[in-house]
Amino acid sequence: MKKNKDFIDCPRCLGKGYVDLNDIKRLRRELYWEPGPHCAYCDGKKIVAFDFASKINPDDWFITSDVDKLLLKRYLKREPKAIREVKKMEDFMVGLVNCIYHLYVNEDKNRSEIVDLLIKDSAVPKKEAEEYVDKVIRAIFSNLIK
Ligand SMILES: [Zn+2]
Repeated sequence: MKKNKDFIDCPRCLGKGYVDLNDIKRLRRELYWEPGPHCAYCDGKKIVAFDFASKINPDDWFITSDVDKLLLKRYLKREPKAIREVKKMEDFMVGLVNCIYHLYVNEDKNRSEIVDLLIKDSAVPKKEAEEYVDKVIRAIFSNLIK
């Protein structure tokens, strides 16, 4: 795609088409995102419409490569119901990630202790709890301690 005045370099990946650790740190998403081959904000195109960038923050929590495509479409159209749904998911995830981070880093709990606590306290299914815990622990090591 050619650049013109209506398009700008993607403010999330800075025009690379993919998100690396520097982007993640700059946007303060260390506990949520992992470096990947595809920038979901510009859809790998390296540029975005100025209009889009002025409406949606480049650090938007929800716009990532592994989300429900239909919900993403509705969210990008700024449907109030989709925005509320995403906000609810975001609040849940922020609470969950902070909890896992706290238990692992400050309370020195191990993976299975954290999984057990999540199952007990938040009624998250075991498989999901394991996935969340693994993802946060991986993010702590790959995005924070490096
Ligand atoms: Zn991008």
